[in-house]
Order: sequence, then C-alpha cells, then structure tokens
Amino acid sequence: MTNCIFCKIAAKEIPAKTVYEDDDLIAFHDINPAAPVHFLMVPKQHIPTVAECNESHAALLSKMLLLAPKLAEEQGCGYAVNSDGVGSGGFKLLFNTGPNGGQEVYHLHLHVIGGPRPWRRSA
Ligand code: 5GP
Ligand code: ZN
Repeated sequence: MTNCIFCKIAAKEIPAKTVYEDDDLIAFHDINPAAPVHFLMVPKQHIPTVAECNESHAALLSKMLLLAPKLAEEQGCGYAVNSDGVGSGGFKLLFNTGPNGGQEVYHLHLHVIGGPRPWRRSA
C-alpha cells in the first residue's frame, strides 16, 4: 500500500527499532512510547484494521497473540506467577480500531505496552 507508514517500515524504507521479524510480521518500538516498554506487532500484509480480518487471517492473528507474551518477556515486561500463585509484571495488548477506537495508523498493529506504572498515557 503506497503511503502507508507501517508498510514502509516493513519494507525497510523507513527505519525502526526492530525487536522481532519473520516472513509474516515485524515488531518495533513505538516512536512515541506510552510506557517504559511499548512496541507494535505489525503484519507485513497491509490489513487496515482488525475489523477487516476474516477466517483467512486466523493463523496470522493467532501467531501475533501467541508471540506477544514471548516478546514482552524479552523486552522486560513479561508476566510471571510465583509458587504461591501471585502474579507480577505484565503488559497490555491493544488493537485500536477506527476513529472511536483512537486508531491513527490504518495498518493493523497490536500495541504491547508494559513496564513499571504509572504510564504516561494509555495509547
Ligand atoms: P494507533 O493510534 O494507530 O493505534 O497507534 C499508532 C502508533 O504508531 C502510535 O502509538 C504512534 O506513536 C506510532 N507511530 C506512528 N508513526 C510511527 C513511526 O513512524 N515509527 C514508529 N516506530 N511508530 C510510529
Ligand atoms: Zn500498510
């Protein structure tokens, strides 16, 4: 998609601080982080919003959701449960969708936001 900033990042036409990449997706730090850890998981395929996904995107969406906790862990905001069952750490996963969802970039992306609170904004 011409003029899509995340397509350009995926194509390496615009630089980004990449934390993960494979054939299907790229993850990179948000340029305006809402929290100590804030990165975006972006499919290389141009899909405008999660509302435009269908069954053909099931494997891609599943991959993103299953990978997110692993990347969060690598980036220092993983969730852990101790032997008493008490959780610590953790993160927020967020798909802003459409104008009322606060979406600004219309190329599907999953925000992964974490680190010690308070956070500057909710993304
Ligand atoms: P949205 O509001 O669409 O869910 O979030 C878009 C996010 O993309 C924002 O948090 C914004 O800071 C981030 N962003 C916008 N342009 C760029 C860019 O060129 N590079 C990076 N790394 N992040 C960007
Ligand atoms: Zn795009």
